[in-house]
Amino acid sequence: MKAIERRIADLWFTEYQTPNLRLGLRIEDVLLNKQSKYQHILVVDTKQYGRVLVLDGAIQLTEKDEFCYHEMMAHLVLCAHPEPKKVLVIGGGDGGVVREVLKHDIVESVTLVDIDEEVIRASKTFFPTVSCALDDERVKIMPMDALVFVKEHHDEFDIAIIDSTDPVDFASGLFEQSFFEDVHAALTESGMMVAQTESPFAEPELLRDAVLGLRHTFERAFLAWGSVPTYPTGLWTYAVGSKKFDPRIQRRSAPTGLKYYSDTMHSLAFELPPFVKEIVNGGNLKEAKGN
Ligand code: SAM
Repeated sequence: MKAIERRIADLWFTEYQTPNLRLGLRIEDVLLNKQSKYQHILVVDTKQYGRVLVLDGAIQLTEKDEFCYHEMMAHLVLCAHPEPKKVLVIGGGDGGVVREVLKHDIVESVTLVDIDEEVIRASKTFFPTVSCALDDERVKIMPMDALVFVKEHHDEFDIAIIDSTDPVDFASGLFEQSFFEDVHAALTESGMMVAQTESPFAEPELLRDAVLGLRHTFERAFLAWGSVPTYPTGLWTYAVGSKKFDPRIQRRSAPTGLKYYSDTMHSLAFELPPFVKEIVNGGNLKEAKGN
């Protein structure tokens, strides 16, 4: 008689990154699997990337590569602004951007506006190295829709960082020009903002429209790029709008101990590969206010 082979269950998480592209991660353990009022929240331990936070099926961060994204989101603008004292973070409930922002001693306050308190709670429970700065006394957490928040604030923040989920449902407005206009109004006269604008391979139209929206709204607008291995296609972009200072010029050096962003990376990030340049200049707005 044939011996029955003992096998361990083979669990995989699959992210459908585009209709034709999937990323699969072998799961070691499922730590949280719940529906909040706004989105589905999943926390899993994986062999390849360590612990992973997934919202509505899309990877938000992994323990192994979150620094690539969070360092770029924070330091590109904080190092380009001469005095970034008041910082607004929109989305970003996991706390990764806030952690990086507070590496700058000059920062006096950080206001974090995330619509979903459950994401903040999950990050505090399962991602202590990411959420570690959320209880800092300089941080104020506003659990509300950022579209409403920015309409109620004027001339207040030196920096705004838009760390949102993909542009679906309640996050879709965070990629529109009317929102950029409200952010512009919420910033001080030398204010600067950065928004994550997805992958040039997966979302070229979204990327182009976001950059055009910023060019219409801000006195200066530029695109920067970098690598985030677990985000769709691995190549990521960051759109920067500035009211006064050229964000390509670094005015303050990088905090010590970083793993991705550096003084050299700052200027390299704004040097776009030709195919990305073509995407952002492909609309009918060719007068170059940016790269
Ligand atoms: N870095 C991530 C990425 O690109 O995949 C985003 C991380 S962060 C967890 C995204 C956060 O944006 C979520 O916690 C979500 O609740 C928040 N968010 C989405 N739409 C929002 C809105 N309209 N107002 C405030 N927060 C919002």
